Amino acid sequence: MKNVLNYINGEYLPPVADRWIDNYNPSSGEVYGQIPDSDKEDVALAYQAAKEAFSSWSNTTLEERSQILLKISQLILDNLDELAKAETLDNGKPISLSKNVDIPRAASNFSFFAKAITQFASEAHESVGLQAMNYTMRQPIGVVGCISPWNLPLYLFTWKIAPALAAGNCVVAKPSEVTPMTAYLLGKICNEAGLPKGVLNIVNGLGHTTGQAIVDHPNIKAISFTGGTKTGAQIAKLAAPMFKKLSLELGGKNPNIIFSDCNYEEMLQTTVRSSFANQGQICLCGSRIFVEKPIYEKFKKDFVEAVSMLKIGNPFNTDSDLGALVSKEHLEKVKSYIESAKDFGGEILFGGKTVNVANHENGYYLQPTIIEVKSNQCKLNQEEIFGPVVTIMPFDSEEEVLEMANDVSYGLSATLWTQNLDRTMRMTKRLQAGIVWVNTWVLRDLRTPFGGVKSSGVGREGGFEALRFFTEPKNICIKYQE
Ligand code: NDP
Repeated sequence: MKNVLNYINGEYLPPVADRWIDNYNPSSGEVYGQIPDSDKEDVALAYQAAKEAFSSWSNTTLEERSQILLKISQLILDNLDELAKAETLDNGKPISLSKNVDIPRAASNFSFFAKAITQFASEAHESVGLQAMNYTMRQPIGVVGCISPWNLPLYLFTWKIAPALAAGNCVVAKPSEVTPMTAYLLGKICNEAGLPKGVLNIVNGLGHTTGQAIVDHPNIKAISFTGGTKTGAQIAKLAAPMFKKLSLELGGKNPNIIFSDCNYEEMLQTTVRSSFANQGQICLCGSRIFVEKPIYEKFKKDFVEAVSMLKIGNPFNTDSDLGALVSKEHLEKVKSYIESAKDFGGEILFGGKTVNVANHENGYYLQPTIIEVKSNQCKLNQEEIFGPVVTIMPFDSEEEVLEMANDVSYGLSATLWTQNLDRTMRMTKRLQAGIVWVNTWVLRDLRTPFGGVKSSGVGREGGFEALRFFTEPKNICIKYQE
């Protein structure tokens, strides 16, 4: 059994009430450990530790803070194998992804913000003619809350924690209850890197208890949350009367728009990835594929063929392209969407069935699934499925596809495949999304603003946007005599 403990004030602690939750291995369906079922009291302890650490941490020199974060980054890389295995065991994702993407990116999150903070400067505004000088300080907020989801566990956990710490805050954080293991291991790494006690505190438990206790805590002044849109709305409602600063990165239903003049081979390969990477459990996956009519039939045939080559299997096998979905509940949810396809004339072109993996018969495996739909208004095109399921539909014109791409409550990202520059300019301007990729997908530069519009969220992460979120601007106006 591999048990998880809370990490509070630099120490690993059991939950105050001694209540525990089973942790499942999605690739085998077996319980492999327990995690704390923390409540308000654990959050209060974490807050107290963070509060006590704040005055000292916020006054460390940038150099010192930066060095500690760089050390954390290096230790994540030094422990890459252990962390990657833990991520795959907890989440079901292929080990190749954990090793090559998730864990290296967690390290980059720390090294990026360790450097970014040294370049994050205050602004000054001379009020010419009024004999006054304004300068804007950017001060850390105090104790902040970070709540992250299960799909990219350490990757998204550190994407919040690194800028929060770099900016001089102390943190009370909660990973998803479904995937707590790598966050648990991070505590040990932080101690080894010399992060002072109490600067980072990790409390494990359920969203509606532990997560809610963080949001509800009157002195945790900012909440950075990534997760579902419904949960985001609940958090916003709870936090609003306390006037907390909120960053909400929520769901997506992203269009992947393919024109006949695209670089076909590159588009096809990337579309397989943008549809099914991480079993389709990435908020940026292009789950609605729109293809221009002249190449629609060819694309349909080639896409089905390419997807049929993907290997679904034990995530610890290095040649598995798809591993297991994260939990039984999630598998059931995704399956129910597939089953609903026939209700509105959707045709399953490939997949749709669970997969029996030898020696892992109780794991949560599902075929990558392609469904041809007749209308963008159907449930499969309007609701976030967050699994290995994409829909495809043909279109005739730019105007038609723009209308369909935007006709959804979400607005996280969009992908556009075309070689036509004028069309690129017209379309990117009008697509309702926080991020648009042209002839690529998830090519990330950590300096860029990351986030969505409409029901996909509020605020932006990444680069200086994250450092702005985790600091309060204070303007100082000094009048002087000439
Ligand atoms: P959830 O919204 O269910 O949970 C996210 C986190 O919030 C978890 O740690 C969860 O805890 C916690 N939580 C749940 N309820 C509450 C509450 N009432 N108060 C405070 N915290 C709470 O999302 P999932 O974990 O299911 O993640 C999938 C979702 O995340 C998808 O919709 C996906 O699109 C979105 N996402 C968005 C991204 C973006 O950048 N926009 C990136 C990645 C994912 P617990 O797990 O214990 O319930």
